[in-house]
Amino acid sequence: MASCTPTHGGTNRSVDWQSLLDQSIRSPAELCRRLDLDPSLGVEAESAGGNLPLLVPAPYAARIRRGDPNDPLLRQVLPRTEETLATPGFDADPLGETTARCGPGLLRKYRGRILMVTADACAVHCRFCFRRHFPYSDCPQNAVQRASALEHIAADRSLHEVILSGGDPLMLTDAELARLLAQLTEIPHVRRVRLHSRMPVVLPQRVTSALVELLRAGRITPIMVIHVNHAAEIDRSVADGFARLIDGGVPVLSQTVLLHGVNDRADVLVELFGRLVDLRVVPYYLHQLDPVAGAAHFQVPIETGKSLVAALRARLPGYAVPRYVRETPGGDHKEVLA
Ligand SMILES: *Cc1c(COP(=O)(O)O)cnc(C)c1O
Ligand code: SF4
Repeated sequence: MASCTPTHGGTNRSVDWQSLLDQSIRSPAELCRRLDLDPSLGVEAESAGGNLPLLVPAPYAARIRRGDPNDPLLRQVLPRTEETLATPGFDADPLGETTARCGPGLLRKYRGRILMVTADACAVHCRFCFRRHFPYSDCPQNAVQRASALEHIAADRSLHEVILSGGDPLMLTDAELARLLAQLTEIPHVRRVRLHSRMPVVLPQRVTSALVELLRAGRITPIMVIHVNHAAEIDRSVADGFARLIDGGVPVLSQTVLLHGVNDRADVLVELFGRLVDLRVVPYYLHQLDPVAGAAHFQVPIETGKSLVAALRARLPGYAVPRYVRETPGGDHKEVLA
């Protein structure tokens, strides 16, 4: 997948994350070699990846335990044969997003908020991604389409919040993000911009002081929502990135997807949410997996999810327990399960 806006450039600091991105691991055989895994897993991954081939940034691979095929981080990135099995109820557009489309790269599902698909690429390919079959050709491909998306937002004065999603909006360069924010600033009713990103976790080098400054430069309130699924994903560099955002004045919330074999145990979730609040990140959502084709083996039954949340309530302060939610096609907000 290519980025919507593939221009690379910017300051020396931004070259760092971009060259790390370029050096990401794309070969299953190489990942297996680096992690002392049986080469047969690499062969399996080659054929199981489908339209979302293996992609792992090296700093993320470094947090995976060597020699452990069941490592919870590895499970999120290594294609397995289960992905190729069709499962009834798991399909290409589990959220009916193609019907929520209301302009080039715009998804309007909830009142006052609009989601803008700002990039068609990510720094990592998560095996359970709910947008893995999303028609990214809908992402604004050029300035004309971007202008038309902005016109749509400008024409609807009920929109106070723009959610930048993707793909991963932090795949944009600082210059591109700054331009987009400047354009949104010209729309008086836009008060907040929310970024949904996995980059602060998988490639924390993206979170430079320059990024934090540009997010805070204008009138619009920025909010960062990071995607994090396991405490082992948070090493020192990730924690430092969170601190740069928060100290710089950007609130940070977290989303977690409940995943079988990754985080479907109370101890694992207690450790994750405890660690997040220690780092001043507010656990926001725990998502029931969206039933996307290829991800059935990650599903946790809702009843199990509810009892996990009950266990969290008994062990953590209330502010450390995220809302357990599910998205339902056509609903006017996410459904709170617990
Ligand atoms: C979840 C979602 C939102 C709103 O998220 P909240 O955090 O519940 O405000 C908006 N748009 C889309 C497409 C979403 O999936
Ligand atoms: S970072 Fe998000 S959008 Fe990208 S592959 Fe992972 S879950 Fe999907």
